[in-house]
Amino acid sequence: MKYPYLKIDFKENIDEGTIAIISRYWELKDGVFINSPTALRSEIKITQPKLNSVVKDNSQTVLYIEDCVECGNPIGIEVTTQSTAKKKLENTRFQCLDCQTKFNQENKEIPAENKKIHRLEYAIKYRMWNKLTREELAVLNKIIEVDNYKNLNKELIQSNPNYYWLIIEKLNRLSLIDVQREDNYVKTIYFLPELAVAMQINPRKNISVESSLNFHLPKRFNNTKKTQPDFSKIIEFDSDIIIKAGTRYFCSVWINSDGSINFGMKPTSELDVNNNGNKDYEPKHIAEIIRKMRD
Ligand SMILES: [Zn+2]
Repeated sequence: MKYPYLKIDFKENIDEGTIAIISRYWELKDGVFINSPTALRSEIKITQPKLNSVVKDNSQTVLYIEDCVECGNPIGIEVTTQSTAKKKLENTRFQCLDCQTKFNQENKEIPAENKKIHRLEYAIKYRMWNKLTREELAVLNKIIEVDNYKNLNKELIQSNPNYYWLIIEKLNRLSLIDVQREDNYVKTIYFLPELAVAMQINPRKNISVESSLNFHLPKRFNNTKKTQPDFSKIIEFDSDIIIKAGTRYFCSVWINSDGSINFGMKPTSELDVNNNGNKDYEPKHIAEIIRKMRD
């Protein structure tokens, strides 16, 4: 039978009318409930609590969502209302109840962190991305491609945080990604390298969009020719630095007491930003990176 499907066990000796209501309540086609509780309620003229108890008191229903990743048996979940069943349709469980119990008993000692990795592996095994809508898949692709939470914020999330966070939370529930938080503050979005391989996406490891730049240039004291610069140094950056067209930058030079100079540029939009704002949405300052590269 094609997933997802339901099996309803009716109580003995109930009338045809009740059976009909319950059957229609649970009518599921391509993962969608055909008859909403609201429509059913107004049609047969009963209240929501009454409808719930008609269903609950006269039947037991199990929702089957997928083969268990361990034993291959169908994963069945007992459900009592459409709304709870809808949440279960996502299948964030991966294992059947038997295998889950066995797994938990055998792995009592395993820290929660490693269990999470287990779930990320299951999501790949299940090819969970096949269950995503086109929009959700595009967000997952972008997460893997950018492979850097700060840049993801800049390039994607900040343009519509509510929309993107709904999708990111779903990807997290499906264990395609792991949103790692510290003090309720998102630190990073982690995914297994195997996910990128399985989905055939190359993470963009070497490119990072930065919007502000600072570096130090020593003065050249022993120039012998007029064509030689007054200040120079070889600098090798460990990532691309993109200066955006159409953005106004404030460029500055400081002369130090040893004659060297510090060069800096920063988008004018950043000049008035105080430190109380949400750091996630601010371009990252690369002064730290550059400082490390100074000789
Ligand atoms: Zn199983």
